[in-house]
Amino acid sequence: MRVLVVEDDPDLLRLLAGALKDAGYVVDTAKDGVEGHHLGDTEPYDAVILDLGLPEMDGITVLEKWRKAGRTMPVLILTARDRWSDKVSGLDAGADDYVAKPFYTEEVLARIRTLLRRKAGLASSDIECGPLRIDTRAARVTVDGNPVRLTSLEYRLLAYLGHHKGRVVSRTELVEHLYDQDFDRDSNTIEVFVGRLRKKLGVSVIQTMRGLGYKLAEDAGEAESDGAH
Ligand code: CA
Repeated sequence: MRVLVVEDDPDLLRLLAGALKDAGYVVDTAKDGVEGHHLGDTEPYDAVILDLGLPEMDGITVLEKWRKAGRTMPVLILTARDRWSDKVSGLDAGADDYVAKPFYTEEVLARIRTLLRRKAGLASSDIECGPLRIDTRAARVTVDGNPVRLTSLEYRLLAYLGHHKGRVVSRTELVEHLYDQDFDRDSNTIEVFVGRLRKKLGVSVIQTMRGLGYKLAEDAGEAESDGAH
């Protein structure tokens, strides 16, 4: 899952970006409203953390412009503690949730998980598929209850498929959501990572849809009947 953080306070930006990366997300950052708006307008983010008090262009304007342009990604706004009116105008401008400063990073992470879950239509932070379980709170994966050690990229790939369970995800889409904007992207490497992931999981839950992409099986039955690998 790829997240954009727009925050002009360098310490806060570093703190949030670090916590998100540790939690298994790919993170892009912007320090002002113009840069933030541009990134959110051109890159496909799964969620955005947007500070409202920003130089160049304020957060409310950034948000309004995104929504007017049809950008529907979930947006969590950061508001000043005593400015209740910011929360109201933020929500009215199209924010999905807010956190008031100062905040605990854990709360921001929990709210991002909730936004991603809601967008994916998932009821819990655990994504299950047959014997496979993805715990998105701890960024841990188990098969039949046994922990599977994944690299951060393998985890991101699996978590992205998990958040789009039952839907075919193209390699291009995976590349766009697994790497940050500075990464030299090559969709051929996805095939390699899927291969490694399948080997580590030991169960055939990731299906290849020829010419289209990959799909995480919808349920256990579908996972078991998939014997193509
Ligand atoms: Ca600020």
